[in-house]
Amino acid sequence: MRPAQLDRMLTEARARTPWLRAGSSVPQQQVIRDFGRSRAKAHKDIEARLPMTRRAGMPTYKTKREALPSLNYTRRGFRLKDGRLHLAGGIVLTVVWSRALPAEPSSVRVYQDSLGHWYCSFVVPAQVQPLPATGQALGVDWGVKETATTTSDAHDLPHPEHGRKAQEKLSRYDRMMARRKPKTGQPASKGYREARKLRAKAYKKVARQREDTGRKWAKKVVRDHDAIAVEDFRPKFLARTTMARKAADAAIGATKAALVEMGRKHGRDIRLVHPAHTTMDCAHCDARAKHALPLGECTYTCTACGASSPRDKNSARVMLVRAGLNPAGADGGRPPGALLQEAA
Ligand SMILES: [Zn+2]
Repeated sequence: MRPAQLDRMLTEARARTPWLRAGSSVPQQQVIRDFGRSRAKAHKDIEARLPMTRRAGMPTYKTKREALPSLNYTRRGFRLKDGRLHLAGGIVLTVVWSRALPAEPSSVRVYQDSLGHWYCSFVVPAQVQPLPATGQALGVDWGVKETATTTSDAHDLPHPEHGRKAQEKLSRYDRMMARRKPKTGQPASKGYREARKLRAKAYKKVARQREDTGRKWAKKVVRDHDAIAVEDFRPKFLARTTMARKAADAAIGATKAALVEMGRKHGRDIRLVHPAHTTMDCAHCDARAKHALPLGECTYTCTACGASSPRDKNSARVMLVRAGLNPAGADGGRPPGALLQEAA
């Protein structure tokens, strides 16, 4: 349903219902719009997933937005005064600022996280902080053993091991929750709620570590390169497999997001490259192998030009070529001629 339609329905409902009329209309309008948007999104996701859900025979679906309270206020719904946040409907909040706002915010979202803590997140126009030009370009390929393999050895990012211990903890809490799971129709027990809280806490810790590692790496990559070609990895393709795979997926997701964000912040040229056939193409002569390289095979050898290089390094160079960036300008990369001689 369109927002204007929803607004009209709200106006009618307010005219008929005294208790609804007693509240401020701005947050009510926002809740309905948010809800409409989340339904549209859930609907689209369900459609996209239908073939799989049908096979699995479990068509339940719940978005995070619906599960946890969250409210969005646009410009006429909030104002800041003396460091306090005034929301439509006469609500005044004391905010603990994580950092000063760099510009006038256009909207704010007030939400509760899985641990029950409340946060305000402000939308502020992005300001580009340019960095000095380096004349360097980088290709980035995502993977399980190494989160990022790049065309520069100095910028590879191994899979962070700190996730493993936390991962063990996570699966322990998963089992704990499964054991204490309430029967259908029964309220959740204290033990179940406790396990759920512990799991949420452990998960949050891993997520924070991932973000931190991703941001530090992204900062270095963005500082050292003007243009970066990145595999446009979509984590959901690999989801629902092993624990290690899931952890790698999450690490890639967080790292990619950090890189895109950091690139935008510093005005760098970030190009997302479609991931299809990247293990089949030769980065040197552009020939495509007849078959995908088997997962156990660590070296890519081109049957057309004879070039041979580590599998992930070849993929990282393919990113550069596909993004239209000159691989010869990539730091750490050897010119194709050198590789040819080596292979001969
Ligand atoms: Zn080749």
